[in-house]
Amino acid sequence: MSALPPGVLREASIDVGAITHNTRHIAAAVGVPIIAVVKADAYGHGAVRTARAALAGGAQMLGVTDLGEAFELRDAGIDAPILSWLHAPGTDFRAGLAQDITIGVSSLEQLRAVAAARVAERPASVHLKFETGLSRNGIAPADRSAVLAETARFVASGDIVLDGVFSHLSNTTDIDDLAALARFEDAVAETSAAGLHPRWRHMAATGAALTLPATRLDAVRIGIGLHGLSPLEGRSSADLGLRPSMTVRGQIAAVRQVPAGTGVSYGYRYRTDHATTLALVPLGYADGVPRAASGRGPVRIGDTMHAVAGTIAMDQFVVDVGDAPVAVGDEVVLFGDPDRGDPTAEDWAAAADTINYEIVTRIGSRVPRREVHS
Ligand SMILES: *Cc1c(COP(=O)(O)O)cnc(C)c1O
Repeated sequence: MSALPPGVLREASIDVGAITHNTRHIAAAVGVPIIAVVKADAYGHGAVRTARAALAGGAQMLGVTDLGEAFELRDAGIDAPILSWLHAPGTDFRAGLAQDITIGVSSLEQLRAVAAARVAERPASVHLKFETGLSRNGIAPADRSAVLAETARFVASGDIVLDGVFSHLSNTTDIDDLAALARFEDAVAETSAAGLHPRWRHMAATGAALTLPATRLDAVRIGIGLHGLSPLEGRSSADLGLRPSMTVRGQIAAVRQVPAGTGVSYGYRYRTDHATTLALVPLGYADGVPRAASGRGPVRIGDTMHAVAGTIAMDQFVVDVGDAPVAVGDEVVLFGDPDRGDPTAEDWAAAADTINYEIVTRIGSRVPRREVHS
């Protein structure tokens, strides 16, 4: 009955066909090119496989946070354009430029460091990032004219090509996001006035891309949507035409019959109130199963939903399955595709008071990823 091979305690299967489908589906819905955001090991799904699957679905560029993530993609032989936007102070950009990484620039210092690092005859490709309300990185309005003037000089000298300008939204309300868009449009106008005409203007991530058409501009940066998960409160994957790509499962490692009044797991935070069957699931917080979901996180065994009983430990948790006929080796699905009856990453997010992004991204390195092709 287990979908897992003998000897395998746990796995996260990644349906790369779903990633390709989701990319195509979003591209068709938004009508502009997709920058596939594969930072943080593609939210736990595997950066290289996700990048390949998204490119197969028509993505035109890849986005990562830092240069190390960009190098992983190049080392795997991926030659698509890659944009990287968060840099340690004092970063030497030579290695990044040598590998043809486009640099997201958020300050005058970074702009100068990138120009100084440009490789031989090839100008450095830059996207300027403007601060428009999120209060993270990005060029502040007060610094904008100086950065644009310096950019124009570096473009004239052949040190830089200004390939794009971008910003990032707060997803607070549509009104807030449209106000940020208006600030971005001001920055774009100032860019043009400086004689700079970048090919790409981009602002929206998955949420705004799907709900605020005005933010789509020349491209949208899609992360969570690649994986078939919804960033929108009250709208499911299926509502958006998306298919969750990650399924986390384990196989029951032990089964015991216990009498009423049996304490379960650390602190005995659960006690059986009748004679029952306990099943041991070999995943814990070391694997990214949030301890905050103790006593609540849902699992599917066969056709039946159960909840975690008591405290989630580092390596394992217990499920009270009542009189369900379970056996060692039976498959336990933590989350996956609700179309198959699985609990969802959103269910676990609700149980742990967090968001689906955090649930998938924290699935740990001890959980082997297995690629499946639907
Ligand atoms: C993570 C990130 C994205 C992708 O966001 P999703 O909500 O996952 O689509 C886009 N842009 C930037 C700057 C990001 O940091």
